[in-house]
Amino acid sequence: MTKMLNPEAVPEILTRSMPDPDACWAAFLRRDRGFDGRFVGAVRTTGIYCKPSCAARHPKRENMIFLPDADAARAAGFRACLRCRPDEVGRDRLAVEMARAFIAEAETPPPLEAVAAHAGYAPHHFHRLFKRETGLTPAAYARSLRAERLKSALGEGRSVTQAIYEAGYNAPSRAYADAEKHLGMTPSAWKDGGRDVVIRHKVVATGLGPMLVAATGRGLCRISFDEGESDLRRRFPKAEILPADARLEGLATQVARLIDDPAHAPDLPLDVCGTAFQQAIWAALRAIPLGETRSYGEIAAAIGRPGAVRAAGTACGENALAVLIPCHRVLRSDGSLGGYAYGTERKQALLERERPLRSFLDGA
Ligand SMILES: [Zn+2]
Repeated sequence: MTKMLNPEAVPEILTRSMPDPDACWAAFLRRDRGFDGRFVGAVRTTGIYCKPSCAARHPKRENMIFLPDADAARAAGFRACLRCRPDEVGRDRLAVEMARAFIAEAETPPPLEAVAAHAGYAPHHFHRLFKRETGLTPAAYARSLRAERLKSALGEGRSVTQAIYEAGYNAPSRAYADAEKHLGMTPSAWKDGGRDVVIRHKVVATGLGPMLVAATGRGLCRISFDEGESDLRRRFPKAEILPADARLEGLATQVARLIDDPAHAPDLPLDVCGTAFQQAIWAALRAIPLGETRSYGEIAAAIGRPGAVRAAGTACGENALAVLIPCHRVLRSDGSLGGYAYGTERKQALLERERPLRSFLDGA
């Protein structure tokens, strides 16, 4: 849990951009790449400064001070660590931003060699760097952007064929393959509010109230509290909404068990569609360990978009699979609960069910 800061006692430089010292130290202990570029840690005894993800052995807490960037560390007389090369973080971030813009402007997904050359890096190295910063490979990022364009073109009421070409696909077959993966449905079905898609559903009783569980043939597409068949019909107006069959009964049982027994973490098939950004946020949510919480800022930083705190909060709110994608594990930076689509009391209750398990796992 993030410690509450007394604003009076914090130097201006800290309140501007850096996490508080406890959060810095915690990020160092986790070797959290999401914090690279947000601050550096300098060691008084060795005179060396590192980025948070440095693989070197950790010094004692009392020998470390945290500074906003490499310039500040050098100005204070520290030298850059030769192992983690903290001065290169800014350059890497800039290269990834340049590559994102390059991909976004391209008509069709550019080859890795072209993206890397644009950013001024060797292809293999840049591939790894881009994935580390964004959670996606350059090719997957380009495909997501294209699928996103397809989705918005379809949403604007264009014909399916027109939307496919406008989104930058050379052939409809490619669009259909992508759409199955990114939109969860084929383009025709999507345009028509889910036509030809069969969705099975059931409302199950849980310790936290009635829960709607719904799935397409591919996987779970909706988990929510206090919703029923009519809400599902509103979301997927043209889909064929049917009651549970044996498969859905099985899925619903597993999901309901997750509420009453948080340590039970089944690997269930998901069928959710989202933009590249939403997908990255949801993946970051699924990476929060049981019994732990993160701030919206930490989630944004974890996907390499430290400035996108508000957008990260929005993407958390757009999560279609309550509890299974644990958006309830994200709090405000001051440690307060923040919002929850199904009420803050439920968020609190979910967290309380998970916290003791964490202590148990830690042997506390
Ligand atoms: Zn280092």
